[in-house]
Amino acid sequence: MSNSSSNLDDDTADLRAATRKFVDGPVTPLLAASEAAGTMSPELLELIRQQGYSGLRIAEEWGGKGLRFSQFCAVLEEFARLGPTLHFWLTDSIGLTVQRLGTPAQKEKYLRPYAQWQLRGSLAFSEPEAGSDASAIRTRAEPRDGGWVINGRKHYSSRAESAHFVLVTAKTDAGKGARGGITTFLVDRGTPGFTVTRTDESMGSRLHKLAELGFEDCFVPADAVLGEVGQGFAAAMSTLDDGRLAVASTCVGVASRLLELMTEHVKTRRTFGAPLSDRQGIRWMIADSVVEIELGRALLRESIAKLERGQPIGANASICKLHCSEMVNRIADRAVQVFGGMGLIRGVLVEQLYRDVRFLRVGEGASEIQRMLIARSVLGRPGREGD
Ligand SMILES: Cc1cc2nc3c(=O)[nH]c(=O)nc-3n(C[C@H](O)[C@H](O)[C@H](O)COP(=O)(O)OP(=O)(O)OC[C@H]3O[C@@H](n4cnc5c(N)ncnc54)[C@H](O)[C@@H]3O)c2cc1C
Repeated sequence: MSNSSSNLDDDTADLRAATRKFVDGPVTPLLAASEAAGTMSPELLELIRQQGYSGLRIAEEWGGKGLRFSQFCAVLEEFARLGPTLHFWLTDSIGLTVQRLGTPAQKEKYLRPYAQWQLRGSLAFSEPEAGSDASAIRTRAEPRDGGWVINGRKHYSSRAESAHFVLVTAKTDAGKGARGGITTFLVDRGTPGFTVTRTDESMGSRLHKLAELGFEDCFVPADAVLGEVGQGFAAAMSTLDDGRLAVASTCVGVASRLLELMTEHVKTRRTFGAPLSDRQGIRWMIADSVVEIELGRALLRESIAKLERGQPIGANASICKLHCSEMVNRIADRAVQVFGGMGLIRGVLVEQLYRDVRFLRVGEGASEIQRMLIARSVLGRPGREGD
């Protein structure tokens, strides 16, 4: 892929092939070295940026590549050959929110450098008492001295420990609840009263760290509000369809790689005088994996096409996210099984992928929440809270 947006290849197949070559080439050893060191190599990020993969979905006028959604998903699928780790560097979700809601001044300050990976952002929505039910946040912001004072605690903010700014949601009108009562703020690293109080590693990649953030009488000016006061919840929800289809694309990419690894292994590993690939039990595992991946691809193809045409996709983003995240976990489990002991050894790719994919059933709306939304699209809302 060229560094120049004007040279971007319109042909998704070419883009996919170039990305695969890049991922299987220099990215693979640099990512493995980063994983071993527990920190992302700046050299790898710079290489990815130089190859033109920064700001993929950010508009060209703000320094991004302005890829079509289908091209973007193809790129994600190819990077996912190494697991879901790079997904969060490539997806631009914070920048897209600034692009959609930001003022020209906010876009100049945050979006332009973000598109070039000179600034990194993180989302601080979840709290100890508010995850799936994001509307239950307790962090609050009160108007004072022409700005806002934020108090509260956030957790599980992906890579916030190294972010230059965070998108923080806070209650600004306790009487109004989620619709009308939550506002999003752009808060710079180093703002007095804002601290990263703790960083955790998750069970997957060591490069995907989750941070706990504290806000204590943290003053931000009035122009730190992103979008309209009171519309922070709606703003966050408006990014979900894109995000879920992007996650589903990454799941398909990881699953395809696992299938490739399984297929190579069973052809060469012999037990009781024959290759594993001759055994019906093993062949059915491969067959089931092929069917589940193809189903994921078909679901995605339809939803991505609709999204690109600007048509409503209804519950399809949830259907894709649910199927693909559950599917990749089943396939990762099969892959570990057909690799036998080798599948459990640290450093072997299937072992790493098995751990890496687990969070895909929890993040970006857990499977139960996707089921809730799918059921709601058929049955309507039940007459009780929480669903
Ligand atoms: C790797 C990772 C990265 C993350 N990155 C970010 C980030 O960058 N920014 C951010 O703000 N947050 C982030 N999160 C937080 C993530 O959004 C939440 O973990 C997720 O929304 C689930 O919330 P919870 O952990 O509080 O679980 P809970 O909401 O407590 O849910 C626990 C379980 O109950 C189920 N459940 C909940 N409600 C219902 C219901 N009504 N019916 C049936 N089942 C239900 C859930 O599906 C889940 O299985 C991240 C999480 C992970 C694991």
